[in-house]
Amino acid sequence: FEFGITVDNLDQLSNESFPLCAKNMHEHLRKDHHLKHHARLQYGLYLKGIGLSMDDEMKLYRTEFMKGGMTDKAFKQHEYGVRHMYGKEGRRVNYTPYSCIKIITGNPPGPDDHHGCPFRHFNPSLLQQRLKSYGVPPKGVEEVISLVSRGHYQIACTKYFEITHKEKLENALVESIQHPNQYFEESRRLLH
Ligand code: SF4
Repeated sequence: FEFGITVDNLDQLSNESFPLCAKNMHEHLRKDHHLKHHARLQYGLYLKGIGLSMDDEMKLYRTEFMKGGMTDKAFKQHEYGVRHMYGKEGRRVNYTPYSCIKIITGNPPGPDDHHGCPFRHFNPSLLQQRLKSYGVPPKGVEEVISLVSRGHYQIACTKYFEITHKEKLENALVESIQHPNQYFEESRRLLH
């Protein structure tokens, strides 16, 4: 797919088509002008996976971190990190974006961390509040929360996808969400 992904349309893409995990990290990056290590990796690889170029990813982190007061010099180590993610440093490994299972069972976020899966790692009241603010009607919020309380995080994510793409879906079945990048691609396919 070619969605024309650039640093300039990330806000729009986040609103329309990012899964909650990526949306949460994107919004925190915009608001706090920073992301800690695990989120930089999880989000950075996700962005690489949706087709953001290395230069644009660098620009995104640079712009936000500088707004947050980081100096050019301090940004150097992050430049290395971004190049590394794109396989341009070190062993030149082609790192792939994390799957839902990896995110859900991986290193859980601490208080100031924004990586992880909101369905798995948010407390229920925060998740509820977030779903409401994204326009999920009360019945939908209830359904999602009920799935989460039974430990069905990916099914809850699939349900959220169905609710937020309802008009385009026209009763078609959604493949269950296994990967944040799959979520994004399915969404773009439906919306365009
Ligand atoms: Fe992201 Fe997967 Fe969690 Fe959905 S289930 S929010 S895609 S990690």
